[in-house]
Amino acid sequence: MFRPPRGMKDLYGIDFRKYDYIVRTAQKVAEKYGYEMISAPIIEHTEVFQRAIGDNTDIASKEMYTFLDKGGDSITLRPEGTAGVIRAIVTNSLTQNLPVRLMYYGEMFRYDRPQKGRYRQFRQLGVEYLGDKSPYTDSITIATASEILNAIGIFDFEILVNSLGDDETREAYIKAIVKYFSRHKNRLSQDSQIRLQKNPLRILDSKDRGDIEICSMAPRIMDYFSKDAGNYFDKVCELLEKYGVKYEVDPFLVRGLDYYSHTAFEFKPTKGEYKDSIGGGGRYDKLLSQFNGPDVSGIGFAFGIERLMLLLDNQKFKGNIRRVAVTPVTDKENDIAFELFKTLHACDIAAEFLHVGNLSKKMKVADRLNCEITLLIGENERANGTVTVKFMNVADEARKTKEVNINEIVGFIKYALERS
Ligand code: AMP
Repeated sequence: MFRPPRGMKDLYGIDFRKYDYIVRTAQKVAEKYGYEMISAPIIEHTEVFQRAIGDNTDIASKEMYTFLDKGGDSITLRPEGTAGVIRAIVTNSLTQNLPVRLMYYGEMFRYDRPQKGRYRQFRQLGVEYLGDKSPYTDSITIATASEILNAIGIFDFEILVNSLGDDETREAYIKAIVKYFSRHKNRLSQDSQIRLQKNPLRILDSKDRGDIEICSMAPRIMDYFSKDAGNYFDKVCELLEKYGVKYEVDPFLVRGLDYYSHTAFEFKPTKGEYKDSIGGGGRYDKLLSQFNGPDVSGIGFAFGIERLMLLLDNQKFKGNIRRVAVTPVTDKENDIAFELFKTLHACDIAAEFLHVGNLSKKMKVADRLNCEITLLIGENERANGTVTVKFMNVADEARKTKEVNINEIVGFIKYALERS
């Protein structure tokens, strides 16, 4: 038996319907906030991600699907959406008219350890907003993300926010945490000992239990904010309150990527079994200049679509096309039933033509396809110029079936579907 590669899943049935619904709903909300769609390539030159994400992050150092193509170029399957979109913005000089507001969705790839809600191929939807660097834009962007969740039907989540400050802040803060973690170096995990040398901020992201305990007593970034960074963050919080967006400040939220400055945020479910992050984002100041683009600041966020799918009720996604089954009783009625099937489709009624097997098999298929109505044509109906309409979900025998003239059947079905 062939299986997909580890950590990758076939998406179909209820899951595909959920995926499609999430993307479409998010797109509607994003359009209201002025976003347009962009689709960048799934693979980019490896350097695009190395520059954007930072060489010393877990994603770039361990999780990227990177290989040489036939021309000998190093290419990488995108592990996240921002880097490619920013590269596309610079390539196409889209910053000539600011603000630029783009939404994307699609497959991402990370060579991670698969578990519930964590796959090697997964899907994200996200937005990038370039141009205005202000607490207003940050709070509007967080509100957009929150509205997307609400529109999808997800209400039980918390929003964690923090600020990574400006260069001055981060310089002072990194000095302080290097000093702190160096004192606890021997108790840090192997990975975090390396991070201490290469990228100390990332220790705060560690999932290792011992590291988490040491992190809980670490210095907090707000104690190192420059005046500007402090004012900026206070204003973001004030505006979120004005917006009525509930949030918690998480002083250790640094997010897994290197490109953030100032506002960073993350969304976590508060009900049910699944507790891991469903999405997050933040402001970035230097990402465009990494691609030799103009000095324009941006803010963005991304949601993990599979994680949002985990929070949606299966019941609502059973498939809601109301189908009519056109069922000849024997092969002799096939042609007349086929004509009726064609007429129904021409009148925009979703119909099935069930002509294979005996009648009991056809009725079983009608049931399995959730057909609400079966139209039976047998010898009698053929002789009378009629169709027997059978309402599959009606229990009352007197109302379950009705013989209708074949010339009146379209109007009858439309009326019946409207009322049910
Ligand atoms: P990140 O780009 O790491 O900030 O991830 C943004 C969101 O993508 C996370 O909050 C998750 O919802 C989702 N995500 C990240 N990695 C995975 C994965 N391996 N499998 C499924 N979803 C993921």
